[in-house]
Amino acid sequence: MPELPEVEVVRRGLARWVARRTVAEAEVLHPRAVRRHIAGGDDFAHRLKGQRVGEPSRRGKYLWIPLDTTHTAVLAHLGMSGQLLVQPHDAPDEKHLRIRVRFDDDLGTELRFVDQRTFGGLSLHDTTPDGLPDVIAHIARDPLDPLFDDAAFHDALRRKRTTIKRALLDQSLISGVGNIYADEALWRARLHYERPTATFTRPRTAELLGHVRDVMNAALAVGGTSFDSLYVNVNGESGYFDRSLDAYGREDEPCRRCATPMRRRPWMNRSSYFCPRCQRPPRASS
Ligand SMILES: [Zn+2]
Repeated sequence: MPELPEVEVVRRGLARWVARRTVAEAEVLHPRAVRRHIAGGDDFAHRLKGQRVGEPSRRGKYLWIPLDTTHTAVLAHLGMSGQLLVQPHDAPDEKHLRIRVRFDDDLGTELRFVDQRTFGGLSLHDTTPDGLPDVIAHIARDPLDPLFDDAAFHDALRRKRTTIKRALLDQSLISGVGNIYADEALWRARLHYERPTATFTRPRTAELLGHVRDVMNAALAVGGTSFDSLYVNVNGESGYFDRSLDAYGREDEPCRRCATPMRRRPWMNRSSYFCPRCQRPPRASS
């Protein structure tokens, strides 16, 4: 799955290449790509036609494109392999092209949704007064959002009887932190993933949030260098930014702080990578 920095780069690309253009025609080439649009592909295409595209927005890993004159927005689900591409009209269709959006201007490009496995897709939703698609109104702000409330997050963390990595991946507490960035931030903060959140002090929470923001901003800085082209792209399987990871995927490799071999443990159908020396397991839970 793409994580927040990858999605943010796609958002910036859409802001540059698609915002403020008016849809001439939308073409749905595979019904699975609009299955979350309950009224179906014809309705989706019909309702996009003639609409002016607003400024693309993101919350966590959710990305949407508001339509200016209606209180609606196109929500993009990138799934495992979804890509949003801005391509010249005459570029050959991609093998897994699912949706094409043409615009009524002479910029010579169109927006394409390409998805090999078709777990992703596009759907049109009503928006809340805050401008969020209604189906994601319950998703918490992400840590890069200027309106993210650190103090409220700490209070919620303390109230929630859970462990820290579960909390970081809980989209109702904080959005946009996936498995990779959680492991990276916990390694930087020297925190074991099973540390109970009830033990967190305010400074500890602040430090952890700082590390979460640092790893995301570092990834953005890498990915941000490549978006300055016509090719707006995210690919959850192979398109992760070429980032240097300190924890994730480093089983048996030496910890970059203390040289102890890193460990991997199964965790909620995924894996957790950690340094057994820098990130001691909590005593109570063992
Ligand atoms: Zn270590």
